[in-house]
Amino acid sequence: MTVRPLADPQPAGLSDGLIDRLVGLIGPSAVLTTAEDRVPYLKEWRGRYQGQAPVVVRPGSTADLAAVVRVCAEAGVSMVPQGGNTGLVGGAVAGADQVLISTDRLTAVRSLDVVNNTITVEAGVILQSIQEAADAADRLFPLSLGAEGSCRIGGNLSTNAGGTGVLRYGNARDLTLGLEVVLPDGRIWDGLRGLRKNNTGYDLKHLFIGAEGTLGIITAAVLKLFPKPRDRATALAAVPDPDAALALLTRAQAGSGDAVTGCELMCRQVIDFALEHIDGVVDPLSGRSPWYVLIEFTSPAAPRQGAGLTSQMETVLAAAFEAGEVTDAAIAASDGQARALWFIREAIVDGQRPEGGSIKHDIAVPVSAVPRFLTEAGAAMDAYMPGIRPVPFGHLGDGNLHYNISQPVGMDRDAFLAHWDPVTRIIHDITAGLGGTFSAEHGVGRSKRAELATTKAGVELELMRAVKTAIDPAGLMNPGKVL
Ligand SMILES: Cc1cc2nc3c(=O)[nH]c(=O)nc-3n(C[C@H](O)[C@H](O)[C@H](O)COP(=O)(O)OP(=O)(O)OC[C@H]3O[C@@H](n4cnc5c(N)ncnc54)[C@H](O)[C@@H]3O)c2cc1C
Repeated sequence: MTVRPLADPQPAGLSDGLIDRLVGLIGPSAVLTTAEDRVPYLKEWRGRYQGQAPVVVRPGSTADLAAVVRVCAEAGVSMVPQGGNTGLVGGAVAGADQVLISTDRLTAVRSLDVVNNTITVEAGVILQSIQEAADAADRLFPLSLGAEGSCRIGGNLSTNAGGTGVLRYGNARDLTLGLEVVLPDGRIWDGLRGLRKNNTGYDLKHLFIGAEGTLGIITAAVLKLFPKPRDRATALAAVPDPDAALALLTRAQAGSGDAVTGCELMCRQVIDFALEHIDGVVDPLSGRSPWYVLIEFTSPAAPRQGAGLTSQMETVLAAAFEAGEVTDAAIAASDGQARALWFIREAIVDGQRPEGGSIKHDIAVPVSAVPRFLTEAGAAMDAYMPGIRPVPFGHLGDGNLHYNISQPVGMDRDAFLAHWDPVTRIIHDITAGLGGTFSAEHGVGRSKRAELATTKAGVELELMRAVKTAIDPAGLMNPGKVL
């Protein structure tokens, strides 16, 4: 394999001839060219980029998608795959000389095998629909995240999405057994195997998972299913500091028979924002604490009288209280109360918006290093700007924090956001110093591409470029993203 620099994005090449060929292949209703039709595909979730693709194609089958890719490749026109368009790093944004290929018509659940515990779905199936299909078959598909009503599984796999169930079930990569992919030249790789063991050389599916559409377009996947939880206990615990939060997690893992499926850390400030700005958020605890842990146990075993997960949660929290790790706690007594506790966590993203500019980070460090990261980052931010308001929260059990920083009260929004790069440099340097990563679950896309180039070691970058060049020698698949 020769290591060569990547080809630059192709210059404009969208002729009427190309659009006519696309229409001829998949029909006029699947080739969108009017501004009105294209608008939903050109918006970016955070409003940081404006998509400009002159044409959006919506193939309805793998064969059609492969034909579209072949025609674009022959014309030397670059392509941008898009799923639910909920990504947060600009990966699905297409430029004025690119064809945007949406998977939103690839929505079939091809099969579900309850004995093999697998579901085979097309790339455009909405994540929540997969959860519902699994549920209807008395199974669990555990990938769960805030955008699950809009994001599509091809996007989840391409960003190797995480979410709230990673601690127990792993991320999107861990949940995938097989893939079907259209390569940048239009060939189809059929790797749709439902095998749990298969040691026959390189495991190619892992190249496409997390590749953010730079190596090909995922068109279908075989995903793992699990027994459905029959018992659940959810609690919100007030803790004095992140060290105590970690001690609680460790205690809970041992004391629940490893039943911890979720462990989310939230600072008080971010809960205050949710209480202030989002209807329906209720704080079940009367006092105030600097930090909170939302912790959930689940088990596929039905609860036995007096020996279910709620009683285990009570025992764990009582012992944590004795040890000074927890100062107050509320255990949900019903599914409704559990949903209300999760609603606090879900509301904290929207709760930050009315507080003005927010500089956001998606970092991960080893779980044991989370307290040190928070101490160092908090001190660095205090020193950087008086009144700056870090509002950290995230998946404690995965060492993944959304280290968001709200502007000082009264400061001009744009003046604050002008500090994005220096603030991010400080946060990412602290992360790197602790052996962490600047992108835990959202990916690299367009917005963190420069960071990747400066932080990955030379050999690692060379290998990544070599893989890209081997699979996409003309550089036509989502150029300008990741690498
Ligand atoms: C409110 C909210 C909460 C979120 N919470 C989480 C969270 O907890 N954890 C988490 O990991 N993420 C989270 N995200 C980010 C986002 O939802 C995920 O990255 C999601 O996996 C993206 O899926 P999508 O279908 O929207 O992909 P898109 O945004 O459409 O695309 C994302 C990337 O994948 C590529 N792509 C899309 N489909 C394909 C395909 N079929 N083949 C090849 N490449 C493809 C695109 O080119 C792009 O680079 C959140 C986003 C929002 C808005």
